[in-house]
Amino acid sequence: MDLSYIINELGEERDNYYRAVSPPIMQSSNFCFKDIQSLRESLAHEMDIPFYTRGHNPTVAILRKKMAALENAEESLIFSSGSAAVAAAVMSCVQAGDHVVSVQKPYSWTYKLLTNMLSRYGIETTYIDGRETENYTQAIRPNTKLFILESPNSMTFELQDIEAVCKIAKANNITTIIDNSYASPLNQNPISMGADLVVHSATKYLNGHSDAIIGVVCGTRAKCEQIFMSEYMTLGGAVSPHDAWLMIRGLRTLPIRMERIAQTTPKVVEYLAGHPKVEQVLYPFHPSFPQYELAQKQLKAPTGQFSILLKTDSMEAVERFCNHLTRFLLATSWGGYESLIYPACVLYGSMNYAKTTLPWNLIRFYTGLEEPEVLIADLEKAFAVM
Ligand SMILES: *Cc1c(COP(=O)(O)O)cnc(C)c1O
Repeated sequence: MDLSYIINELGEERDNYYRAVSPPIMQSSNFCFKDIQSLRESLAHEMDIPFYTRGHNPTVAILRKKMAALENAEESLIFSSGSAAVAAAVMSCVQAGDHVVSVQKPYSWTYKLLTNMLSRYGIETTYIDGRETENYTQAIRPNTKLFILESPNSMTFELQDIEAVCKIAKANNITTIIDNSYASPLNQNPISMGADLVVHSATKYLNGHSDAIIGVVCGTRAKCEQIFMSEYMTLGGAVSPHDAWLMIRGLRTLPIRMERIAQTTPKVVEYLAGHPKVEQVLYPFHPSFPQYELAQKQLKAPTGQFSILLKTDSMEAVERFCNHLTRFLLATSWGGYESLIYPACVLYGSMNYAKTTLPWNLIRFYTGLEEPEVLIADLEKAFAVM
């Protein structure tokens, strides 16, 4: 299946809706039946036939087909957020008494799921430096059921050798879940590298327009069915048909957005890497990145997220720099059309992230779809007043 077929055609059964090019938003919570026989039929296949929108909705179903195909998976489930997707995937793999091995700095709410919530139900997590594959082997216990990967991770972009880690997992009967939000399915397909479940915050690149919160889990049909019958239906983190429709629309331009970002971001990074007020850039696609070679091997093209460490001993200078950027909006998240900065100094003293280990002079960047010259000029201005 080629990429544009997946994005333009797959799942779109236009005969069902007047041959409309753009699919309808099936904004209905429930579906009614002509007779008992057809109701019984639907209820018997609740994952695949419209019965109740928490389980199946025709607009969401289009997305499920596209996401499964984009990740080379048999099946996918769409959630109301990336965090809901992560929680459902993780919970489907563990029970009381089990042990999880996770990368050291997974996405903050994945960390909280493991540390604050699952620990209450008798599930223990060991955090390891995932850059060394051997650390996985060493962390395995007889009750280890799950490896959690995130490659690259969110703020500092450490990679794991996905193929090697998944091989270790398979040999030890351990399930692997990888958060693939950083790369998007266009730049990395972990299932083809041996991963069992791929999760996405579709809020980021996949929806791509900073207007919806959505999550995805991709895996085998059997595993997705298991999640559907338990976590998906029980925890009820289903996406709304309207948000699903927004994401279908967002996906139409995913390849050209990613292509644009792959061209422009390295230019912005190159400028920053050469700037005297920048101590270090963290970007998997910059030759100075410690895991540059693995990034070249594992990821197909550069993406828009990177971090810098400013060369200063004054937090006020960091704040001045941030306050004077006008084209980079001061906001969390990434993957939309707009460039963003998210400085680590704001985490200190915050309600949810106060335990951060990130240095206060770190700023996470995301380059959107702007012209790189415009972004560089904006940075130049902010450096001048820093
Ligand atoms: C944003 C994000 C999440 C959480 O997704 P939401 O859609 O915000 O719930 C999970 N993992 C990563 C890597 C993220 O960036």
